[in-house]
Amino acid sequence: MSKTETVIGVLALQGAFDVHAKKLQELGAQVRLVRKPEELVGLGGLVIPGGESTTFLKNLERVGFYDVLNEYVHKHPVFGTCAGCILLANEVTNPPQRSFAVLDVTVERNAYGRQNDSVILNEETSLPGGPLEMVFIRAPRISRHGADVKVLAERDGFPTLVQQGRLLAATFHPELTDDTRVHQHFLEIVAAESAK
Ligand code: GLN
Repeated sequence: MSKTETVIGVLALQGAFDVHAKKLQELGAQVRLVRKPEELVGLGGLVIPGGESTTFLKNLERVGFYDVLNEYVHKHPVFGTCAGCILLANEVTNPPQRSFAVLDVTVERNAYGRQNDSVILNEETSLPGGPLEMVFIRAPRISRHGADVKVLAERDGFPTLVQQGRLLAATFHPELTDDTRVHQHFLEIVAAESAK
């Protein structure tokens, strides 16, 4: 499949999917909102947006989507933000919950407490172009990461943007700022994977 034909899916069961779709379209990508298992077929990659991971799990199980998505995330480029990052993690704490266990991190849900429900920070990133604005909303914290996980940005010494091969995950919401670098980075991962 050539790069121009690549379609990026955005899981649209819950959460901030439309803003992701807009951002990807701004970058020239073709986007498909994914609400049913069969809509995963033929995608170059998938974005799992933020929202509420427990609600995602309930919805996925209700529509018989969990197992198909589980298989998908183990084989294709996936970008999980916030709740999406929680779904990809090897281990979830506070409290423990089911996850696809494909990204070698431990994620602590709602780790910043009520006093810090939502905050915008500017932090260094190894993505080119200087500091990155990060919007955290009831954010999880990556409390452990494996040796294969590359840290692309941090908050207080904890990773906020990580990559493990074709998997990208953020504990913040890159779709809510004007900065397109994180989505651009995901499109580059997808392009590299499609070229294999
Ligand atoms: N607190 C949510 C959860 O635990 C994640 C928040 C978000 O996606 N903005 O699933």
